[in-house]
Amino acid sequence: MNVPLLDLKAQYASIREEIRAAIDEVMDSQRFILGPEVAELEQQIAGYSGAKYAVGVASGSDALLLVLMALDVGPGDEVITTPYSFFATASAISRLGAIPVFVDIHPRTYNIDPDGIEEKITERTRAILPVHLFGQMADMDPIMEVSEKHGLKVVEDAAQSIGATYKGKKAGAIGVFGCFSFFPSKNLGGYGDGGMVVTNKEDAAERIRVLRVHGSKPKYYHQVVGINSRLDALQAAVLSTKLNYLEGWSAARRRHAAFYDAAFSDMNVKTPYIEPFNVSIYNQYVLRVACRDELMAHLKKQEIGCEIYYPVPLHLQACYQHLGYREGDFPEAERASRETLALPVYPELTEMQQEYVVSQIKAFVSG
Ligand SMILES: *Cc1c(COP(=O)(O)O)cnc(C)c1O
Repeated sequence: MNVPLLDLKAQYASIREEIRAAIDEVMDSQRFILGPEVAELEQQIAGYSGAKYAVGVASGSDALLLVLMALDVGPGDEVITTPYSFFATASAISRLGAIPVFVDIHPRTYNIDPDGIEEKITERTRAILPVHLFGQMADMDPIMEVSEKHGLKVVEDAAQSIGATYKGKKAGAIGVFGCFSFFPSKNLGGYGDGGMVVTNKEDAAERIRVLRVHGSKPKYYHQVVGINSRLDALQAAVLSTKLNYLEGWSAARRRHAAFYDAAFSDMNVKTPYIEPFNVSIYNQYVLRVACRDELMAHLKKQEIGCEIYYPVPLHLQACYQHLGYREGDFPEAERASRETLALPVYPELTEMQQEYVVSQIKAFVSG
C-alpha cells in the first residue's frame, strides 16, 4: 500500500469545483496583484487568528523578513531564536545583517526553551523570534514576560501553526507580529507561494503594507526602501475557499494523531507531547526513535512517506560557521535532529492507511 506523507491530490479532488470557480473569477477580472480577493482574505485571516490586522505577502519567509524590517532590525543587531526550525526563521535575521542567537529547545515540545532566553540577552538584542513548531505553540507566557522585562519585541513564526492555541489564545496574535506561510504543505496551503503578517497594531500593519510595495506611499513616493512582496489574487481566492475547511482539516489531523498515539502507546517509540494548555494543529506528527534512520529506510521500502524535520540544526549549517557554534552547543536540538521522523497525518488519510503505517512500524520495532 502506498501512503504518501501528504496527499494534496486527494484534498483537491474534494474541493475541485469550488476552487475552479474561485480561480475563474480572478481570471475574468484579470486583476492579479493584491486587489479585492487579497483584501478579503486579509480580513478573514485576521478574524481567524484573533488579530486586528492582516497583510498578505509573497511567502512566509518574506513575512518574517518584512516584520524584522518593520522593527528596524539591522546590521549587528541580535535576534534570539531556536536552532530547530526551517531555515527561513534564521535567514530572515541574517538577510538584514543581524545575528541569529540560538537558545536550545525543550526536549518534549521541540519549541524554544524559555528558561534559556534571558541569559542570551545583550545590549544588541532587538527581538525574540519563537517558532511554533509542528503545529504546537511555544510557551508564550514566559517569553512575553522576559521580553517585557527587557523591552524587546516578540515575533511569532507561526508558519506551521495557523489556528493552534496556547491557553486559548490563537497563534500569531500574542507577539507584536505573527507570520503565516501558505506554502502548499502547510495546513492552509495555497497553489504556490504565499504568506501573511498579522498584528494588533494599526501602525505596525501600515508599515508592512508600505514595505511590501517597495516602501512606496503614495505610489511612486518612497519614504523607506521596501521590497516587492505581495500576495497575488489567485492565491488569495484559493486560500479564501480553503479557509472554510481549515478547522475540519485540523480536527481530522488531531483524530489521526490520537489514533497513532493509542496505537504506539505500547511500543518503544516516543509519540508527540502536547502541553495540556495547547491545542496542536499537527502540521506534522513527529515520532522519536533511537534507530531513526533504519526506521525511515524500512518505511520508505514499504512505500510509506516520512521525512526528517530537520536533519541539521540551524547552528550547524555550513552558512553559519562564522557564528562560531559547535556540535554540542545545543544538545536537545541536535538529538532531535538525529531521532525525529514525521509520519503521514494529512486530513484525507484513511483508517486503512493508518493501520498499515502502524503495522509496519510495529513490525520494525519488534523485529
Ligand atoms: C514554511 C516555513 C517558513 C517559510 O515559509 P515559506 O512560505 O515557505 O517561505 C518559515 N518558518 C517555518 C517554521 C516554516 O515551517
